[in-house]
Amino acid sequence: MAYPRQPSIFLSEEHDAFRDTVARFVEREIRPNANEWERQGECARDLYKKAGDAGLLGLRYPESLGGSNLDFLATTVLAEELAKGDSIGTAVSLMAQSEFALAILADEASDEIKTDWMAPAIAGDLIGAIGVSEPGAGSDVAAITTRARRDGGDYIISGQKTFISNGTRADFITLAVRTGEPGAKGISLVVFPTDTPGFEVGRRLDKLGARASDTGELYFDECRIPASNLVGEEGQGLRYILSHFGGERLVIASFAVGVMERLIDLGLDYAAQRETYGSPVLGFQTWRHRFSEMATKLESTRLLAYQAARLLSDHEPAGDLAVSMAKLHAAEAAQSVAAEVLQVHGGFGQMEESPIPRYYRDVAGFSIGAGTSEVMRELISRSLVASQQSRRSQNGS
Ligand SMILES: Cc1cc2nc3c(=O)[nH]c(=O)nc-3n(C[C@H](O)[C@H](O)[C@H](O)COP(=O)(O)OP(=O)(O)OC[C@H]3O[C@@H](n4cnc5c(N)ncnc54)[C@H](O)[C@@H]3O)c2cc1C
Repeated sequence: MAYPRQPSIFLSEEHDAFRDTVARFVEREIRPNANEWERQGECARDLYKKAGDAGLLGLRYPESLGGSNLDFLATTVLAEELAKGDSIGTAVSLMAQSEFALAILADEASDEIKTDWMAPAIAGDLIGAIGVSEPGAGSDVAAITTRARRDGGDYIISGQKTFISNGTRADFITLAVRTGEPGAKGISLVVFPTDTPGFEVGRRLDKLGARASDTGELYFDECRIPASNLVGEEGQGLRYILSHFGGERLVIASFAVGVMERLIDLGLDYAAQRETYGSPVLGFQTWRHRFSEMATKLESTRLLAYQAARLLSDHEPAGDLAVSMAKLHAAEAAQSVAAEVLQVHGGFGQMEESPIPRYYRDVAGFSIGAGTSEVMRELISRSLVASQQSRRSQNGS
């Protein structure tokens, strides 16, 4: 029993055709391998090459770099479909590269960096990661302490990162470093090649969900890299990071949409065929109504995500507010749908042979990664307060 997805006024025929392409890729390359990759703690390395060959790693980037020059709506479609592969970890592995590590480079890096690092990553020949979080700095990005000091034509980098997706096997890291004084203005971004002497991968972190995505601790001990690896201008790193959070948050919101659609599909199937007291579970009104609520949560999240994607594509300032709302709503909706679909499966929902428990664990990360739900609430409230203050000042009160 397939979930009856409605045509969306936000999507073109090209988006729909692209969805079919990604769905076929997921069916062929991801879902059959999901169990093994979840056990291994990482997806196969050659998946990046396959995704690159299929044109999935450079959607929003220029054709001159091997990208497809598409809008944010194509990114939401990609994230939705990847999330249906029964392995959010695999979806994270691909999009931590294509969106998180590369988007800042696309907008801010030199042509040399784009040619040397971005183009091979879009082709799937290199793996990229974004390295911002540290043991003492997560939500509060401005608190990072990993230092880069200038030495002639080089930077010398020392410090530590943690929770870095793709971190244990990335070829390069789009890395946040402190080049100046403590605080927001002293942060810069560099492209860090992981074959640099002094770099070491620490623990591969064992985690609740998204287990097919490797998550690493990284150590930097007097690592020397060329100063030409600086992304954009020195001291502008925090601005670049904050202005690109929108894409990351949209990806998580879209993962949530894909997960909800897959889970509702699985749940409807199970509830239609499982009989208790002489009736299919779907015959009970309580479950039909609970599925109605789940479908409404799914569609409201989808609308918020598509609206945010459209605003981001159009470079509208309202895009940031829309994306914060989309991510906040998405995380909570997906967690609630995962719990409901677990429940409708009864004891079978507890069994690891079904993808249900995995999705239940995977969605826990949606309210943490790329900005927590508390941070989303804070960002949304700032817009509300600012608009209220501007109305009061216009009224002279
Ligand atoms: C699986 C996974 C993958 C990740 N991948 C990456 C990656 O690739 N690259 C990377 O750089 N980082 C990555 N991260 C790190 C992620 O971005 C951080 O975990 C996240 O930003 C939260 O930071 P924190 O864990 O330090 O929590 P903290 O910032 O310490 O927050 C702890 C709690 O306090 C709350 N809190 C914080 N500030 C406020 C506030 N002002 N008001 C109210 N509540 C607040 C938070 O919401 C949270 O509930 C990853 C994390 C996970 C779990």
